[in-house]
Amino acid sequence: MSLARAGARVCVLTPQGRGAVAVVRLWGPLALAVADAAFRPRRGPSLAETSPGRLRLGRMGAGIGDEVVAVVIASEPPEVEVYAHGGAAAVALVAEALVGEGAEMRRPVAWVRHDARYAIAAEARVDLVRAPTVRTAEILLEQAQGALEADVRAALGALTDEPAKALDLVDALLRRADVGLRLIAGWRVVLAGRPNVGKSRLLNALTGYDRAIVDATPGTTRDVVTARTAFEGWPVELADTAGLRPSDDPIEAAGVTLARARQGEADLVLVVLDRSEPLRDLDRAVVSEQAGGLIVANKCDLPAAWSAAELDAVSVSAERGDGIEELVSTVARRLIPDAPPPSRGVPFRASQVRRLQAARDALVAGDHGSAARNLAVMCAELPRPFDRSD
Ligand code: GDP
Repeated sequence: MSLARAGARVCVLTPQGRGAVAVVRLWGPLALAVADAAFRPRRGPSLAETSPGRLRLGRMGAGIGDEVVAVVIASEPPEVEVYAHGGAAAVALVAEALVGEGAEMRRPVAWVRHDARYAIAAEARVDLVRAPTVRTAEILLEQAQGALEADVRAALGALTDEPAKALDLVDALLRRADVGLRLIAGWRVVLAGRPNVGKSRLLNALTGYDRAIVDATPGTTRDVVTARTAFEGWPVELADTAGLRPSDDPIEAAGVTLARARQGEADLVLVVLDRSEPLRDLDRAVVSEQAGGLIVANKCDLPAAWSAAELDAVSVSAERGDGIEELVSTVARRLIPDAPPPSRGVPFRASQVRRLQAARDALVAGDHGSAARNLAVMCAELPRPFDRSD
C-alpha cells in the first residue's frame, strides 16, 4: 500500500547516463517510512532503526530488483540517500519503487532549494551534478561550501575602511570568472590544417590520453567531428575540422566553411603540420591565418623536412604517442594560465559576474553604497516561497 502523497520527495542527483553509480535522494516527513517500504535489507533491521551514516546493503525495485546501498543521512528531518547502479534501467527501478510507495518525483533543483540557505551554495550544488570532471567538481564543491561567499563577504567587510583592498578582492574574483564560467561547458579546441597532416590521428591520440571521454560525435571526413575529453582535469571539446583547402565540390566547400566558423569560436586552434614533408603554401596560409594558434609539428617519428624550433612548434607523433603528454600540458597552460588557488572564491554563473562587475564599477566611481548593495545581494539568504519540505 502506498503512503500519503507529498510526505516524501525523491530526486535523482546524478546526471542521466553518466558514471557507474547513481545517487537518489529522498526527503520529507515520510522519507524514512517510504524508503523502508521499498528497501529490502540483505539482513538486519529497517532503515528507521538504523543509525544515521551507517551504510546498508539491500535490494529495491519490482521482481528481484537492483542491489543498492541505502543510508539514513538524517532522521530529523528525515533524509535518505540510495546508491544504485548508474544505468538508466537500474535508476528507473529504484525511482519507481520509491514513487510506488508514495514519494513524489522532483528535479534535483527542488532538493537543492530545500536544503540550501544561500543562493551561491544552491547554484553551486545545481551545477555540481553537471560537473564533467573531478577537478571542476572540486571547485564547485568549494563554492557550495562557501568559498565564493566568504570572499564576497571579505570584500563587503573591507568596503568602508579599506576600499582599495575591497577592489583587489573583487578584481581577483573577476579574474577567476574566466575559469568559473567554463566549469561546465569547458573549453573548445579546434584542430586545423590541410588534409593528411594527421588531424584525425591527433584527435584520437589526444582523447586517448588522460581519458575522460563522455561522448564522441562521429561524422564524415567532410564534417566537423567533436570529442569531449579532459586536459589536466579541465573539460575540453576537441573539434577536428574538414581539411582546409579551396574546393569546387559544394559539399566539401560547405565542410570548409563550417571548419572556419568553428575556428572562429575556438578558445585555441591547433595548427597541425606534417614535419616529414616540406611546408606547402597551404600550410603557410593556415599558419598565418591562425596567428594566435599553437603549432603542432606532427609525424616526428619520420625524418624531419623542417625544424620545429623554427616555428616554435610542439613536436608530436600522433601515430606513436610521442610528445602528446607535453602537448596536453602546453594546451592546458594556454587555456588556463591562472588556475584558481584551492579554497578561493570562483564566480561560476554569469549573474554573479554581473554583480561583481557592477560592484567594481561602483567602487571605482566612489559609490560605496551601490557597491555594498551588489555584494550584499550575492550573500543574501534564499527567499522561501515554498515550505521546508518542498
Ligand atoms: P587528416 O586528413 O589531417 O585528418 O590526417 P589523418 O589523421 O587521416 O592522417 C593522414 C595519414 O597520415 C594517415 O595515413 C595516418 O596514418 C598518417 N599519420 C598521421 N599521424 C602520423 C604520425 O604521427 N606518424 C606517421 N608516420 N604517420 C601519421
